[in-house]
Amino acid sequence: MSTNYFNLTLILFASFTFFLTNCDNKSKAIDVNYLKEGVLCTETIPLDFIDESGKIVSKYIDSVKFSYLDSIAFTDNNPDRLKVYSTPAPLDFTKKIEPYSPEYYMAYTVFNIIKVIEYYNGLFDNKIDFNSQEEYKTIEVTIGDTPYLTSPKVYIFEANSNPSPSLFFHEIGHRAFWYIEEGLGIKFKGLSYIHMGLLEYFTVSLNNSPLVGEDFLPEKGMRNADWVYGYPPHDSLSLKGLLDAIAASYPQKIQNPNSNVFKFYDVNMNAYKDYLDEIDNHRGGMIITSTLWRIREQLGQEMTDGLVARTILDLNKFMDTRSEFYNAAENEKLRDKIEWYDLYYGLIQKDKDLNEGKGIEIIKNEFTRTGFLINVVKL
Ligand SMILES: [Zn+2]
Repeated sequence: MSTNYFNLTLILFASFTFFLTNCDNKSKAIDVNYLKEGVLCTETIPLDFIDESGKIVSKYIDSVKFSYLDSIAFTDNNPDRLKVYSTPAPLDFTKKIEPYSPEYYMAYTVFNIIKVIEYYNGLFDNKIDFNSQEEYKTIEVTIGDTPYLTSPKVYIFEANSNPSPSLFFHEIGHRAFWYIEEGLGIKFKGLSYIHMGLLEYFTVSLNNSPLVGEDFLPEKGMRNADWVYGYPPHDSLSLKGLLDAIAASYPQKIQNPNSNVFKFYDVNMNAYKDYLDEIDNHRGGMIITSTLWRIREQLGQEMTDGLVARTILDLNKFMDTRSEFYNAAENEKLRDKIEWYDLYYGLIQKDKDLNEGKGIEIIKNEFTRTGFLINVVKL
């Protein structure tokens, strides 16, 4: 999981609305609502993953549970040892699905989990073995006030909220990138800003919008690939900046020591008190995400998605040839982990292979705009 990497998994949610358009257990579909760039959108989603008896059938999901959140606690004051106390409630997919009901949120979740897995499978030629991650084949949907504690296993929604599907794109992105790191051996060496930035590129690309977090992240912790996140990272991208943003998003609740947001804030503030200046990997990753997003605006989704995915698969190979392209400063110690210049060099090499170099000038310009000193790379 994401322990040890300052991964304050901020995933928060909101509400939607649905209607069962057809109750005869054939050609079923419902409408779901979610926020996209401030606008409440409605999308009709097919319910082809629900069988005649009302059971969810998917090769990616074995079983589902639903519950209402009672409280949270952190064992031994460890932010990575979250305990969620909740009361289970039954699901019945044989009846009409009411907007914002347990079945509504579950259907929204299952539909999007399958959608994201298939997106990654297509982009990475099925090299990411999602089904090897057995523990994520049982998922839980919980209604509660801590959507920022969502994980790829427990999806937490605020009652009646309309969360952006970027929630699911982000969470399944974690599973994909854990596998890219551990299963395929790409040497990010943890949730670095490079790891997170590449992950979140696919979040915004699949969402076709630069915003991550509408109606599920704390308002002041939203991420937006249209913003300029410069390199080196600005102080506000620190862990302290993140915790400040959380507190500022809940000015009333943060005053109450019994509130869930206070518990979350407090446990993290204490655990990371000696590391508050370190980069928060989720927002820090936007340095990479925003750069790639601007490249996508010029090259288009299909070309950029393919370029980024093919580059990722060969990142170790590019890193291993650093001595041929990287002008290290005197006494500079190079680390055995993927750095921005491995990614930059890799993107350009892949663009030559895949796109006849159409993207080279665009890649150079956008890395420069972010603040990377691209002259250290010999092309
Ligand atoms: Zn995350």
